[in-house]
Amino acid sequence: FVVVLSDLASPQDVPLLADRILHHIALPIPLQDREISLSASMGVSLYPQDGDDYDTLLRNADAAMYRAKEAGGNTFRFYTTDMNAQALIKLEMEARLRHAVQRDELLLHYQPLLNLRTNEVTDVEALIRWRANDGTLVSPLDFIPLAEETGLIVSIGQWVLRTACQQTRQWLDQGLELRMAVNLSTRQFRDDKLVQTVRDALIETGLPARLLKLEITEGAVMDNAEQAVRILSELKALGLGISVDDFGTGYSSLAYLQRFPIDQLKIDRSFVKDITLGAESASIVHSIIGLARNLRLQTVGEGVETTQQRDFLRGAGCDLMQGFLFSRPLPAADFLALVQAHSAN
Ligand code: C2E
Ligand code: MG
Ligand code: MG
Repeated sequence: FVVVLSDLASPQDVPLLADRILHHIALPIPLQDREISLSASMGVSLYPQDGDDYDTLLRNADAAMYRAKEAGGNTFRFYTTDMNAQALIKLEMEARLRHAVQRDELLLHYQPLLNLRTNEVTDVEALIRWRANDGTLVSPLDFIPLAEETGLIVSIGQWVLRTACQQTRQWLDQGLELRMAVNLSTRQFRDDKLVQTVRDALIETGLPARLLKLEITEGAVMDNAEQAVRILSELKALGLGISVDDFGTGYSSLAYLQRFPIDQLKIDRSFVKDITLGAESASIVHSIIGLARNLRLQTVGEGVETTQQRDFLRGAGCDLMQGFLFSRPLPAADFLALVQAHSAN
């Protein structure tokens, strides 16, 4: 919808009006036996400073609207000149990302997971990196959202799966048996061909399924629980493991832990960060571990940076830890050297 305020006295009046519009849109609407409510995201452009023709004003309001959406929605944003510049950067990035697979610009780093009881490296997580033109590595946090938005994540995800399985198989052939964790984003989880893709990756690389684990987030399974149960069951039937990543940060419905065939909970870094500082995080972590134990799920503490955090997790009965304290994510060769040196000790 477009709202034209032709008799606006001052731009200062816009926030007031925008709030009133948002308020009215949010009023609950009775629908059969239920009440539903809507939210809106609004972008504001002002004549003449943001454009003096219809197309420009609309385009700029549109850019501002996307900002409002990115801010979580149910709000408004004024257009600013740097929005177009940022939109351009995003377009360029998308164009480059489109060719990243063919141009061999993607690579995986590997981060070890340490068993807190035996002190052995039993698991590893594959974490994607994108080598930019200038050789620097772009963090997945900076391009996975774009890859999701554009659908490119599906082909990138296939590449990740195949590469990670291949690497695990190679290490296995070298006498190193590790379980490889691969991240799946929400969008991949909704891809019809996901199960087929995973099956193909296992067959093509000859990796035993028990050495593969897929990490999903709470959001991915909560969106459509029926479908999620079906897909997870099909994946499990292949013989692999399922892990819930960043556990505790999504909208957790504890009921799904029972319904879904999962094997592992990864306790989000935000809780681990504060376990030795505040009582709150400590009790949350204790509760998650207790819950997991009752449901016979393995636990991983994510983002362990200090020996105190490690000791706390070990004392609390957490099974595995992952974090900079033991190792950052590493290129394959460095990873192998680290694990060999560690097991020699
Ligand atoms: P994640 O799956 O939760 O991965 C853990 C992230 O925490 C990694 O960030 C890792 O480098 C970081 N980390 C590990 N230990 C520590 C620590 O002790 N301290 C701190 N501060 N950070 C630590 P990274 O590699 O930047 O990945 C970020 C996220 O991007 C991942 O979070 C995952 O959600 C996503 N991602 C990474 N690779 C892939 C991929 O191949 N496919 C998909 N769909 N998503 C991926
Ligand atoms: Mg992960
Ligand atoms: Mg995580």
